[in-house]
Amino acid sequence: MSNINQNELNSAICDMYDIQKRIKIHKLADLPKDDEGSETTIGNCVNDVLEFLVNLKKVVCSICKKEIDPKKEYQLGHNAEPVSSERCCTKCNYEHVIPVRIADIVSRNKSSKNKLNKFVDDLYSGGAK
Ligand SMILES: [Zn+2]
Repeated sequence: MSNINQNELNSAICDMYDIQKRIKIHKLADLPKDDEGSETTIGNCVNDVLEFLVNLKKVVCSICKKEIDPKKEYQLGHNAEPVSSERCCTKCNYEHVIPVRIADIVSRNKSSKNKLNKFVDDLYSGGAK
């Protein structure tokens, strides 16, 4: 499968995730896929195509270099900016990417630091909205 253009595959997968969301929102997912008495729904078809496309793809975490399992992980991994311009696994997202983003926000100005402190205080006091 090395001859598949990875950018086009990514684009097709993103399109299918969008379609999957839209058919749920518009309540089309549970409708039959055809008018021939099929029990297979539009949602089933979209899920099957998406699974097929995702299985064509091997995504490696740009931080720890472990393979990202698309069935267990968030879609095709997380946006790893600013640590990396590529994708990362959930573990690296929580352990590396989010802390760097928070540190970045805090370092920008005092107002952000105060907001973050308030957010954390609210979170741990159970008062976060
Ligand atoms: Zn990782």
